Amino acid sequence: MRKQRRTGSMSVVVTKGPRVEQTGEMYCPHCGTQVQSNRCNVCGTVITTSNEEVSGAPELSGWWRRVGATLVDDILLFIPTYVVIMVVTAIIGLVGGTIAGLLLQGAYMVRFLARPAGQTIGNRLVDTYVRDATTGQVLTSQQVLRRWGFVAVYSLFGITGSMVGTSIVGAIGLVDCLYPLFNARKQTLHDKFAGTIVLRK
Ligand SMILES: [Zn+2]
Repeated sequence: MRKQRRTGSMSVVVTKGPRVEQTGEMYCPHCGTQVQSNRCNVCGTVITTSNEEVSGAPELSGWWRRVGATLVDDILLFIPTYVVIMVVTAIIGLVGGTIAGLLLQGAYMVRFLARPAGQTIGNRLVDTYVRDATTGQVLTSQQVLRRWGFVAVYSLFGITGSMVGTSIVGAIGLVDCLYPLFNARKQTLHDKFAGTIVLRK
């Protein structure tokens, strides 16, 4: 367990020292990023040899926060997406309607995630934000589209309405959702695909 003592805006975090793998590579004890120096690029944790780190570093977001943020965004996007798909489908057909729905969701993600705050409305409500997993930088639009597109592409299997399609979406979606519980950096499959991590404020 980690002990944390607040001293003004600074917090003193005492954890195990950096993880050193057999290859000699060193990893941040806080967020799992591979580090070259004694300061982690991603979360800013200063790693000292005395097995103590002193910083106001953010932590990786826990699983429930991530699920909460996703639920909020899904609920917010549901009606607008539904309306756009119905209207555009009525005009130019289902393929056009589906593309329009995807464009709306992609635009929402880029609008909120490819910015310094790195937060969707869902992220804001649960105090989490998204960053590049190796540099700690704000995501580029391409990175946001890669991250969101991964989910969008497997979700498309669902619109066929077939048992097989729905099963594929369910299975991949479940693995994607549970993946953070089984890796050190708490990344979903779509995080791995886009090279991103979710941090807590
Ligand atoms: Zn770190």
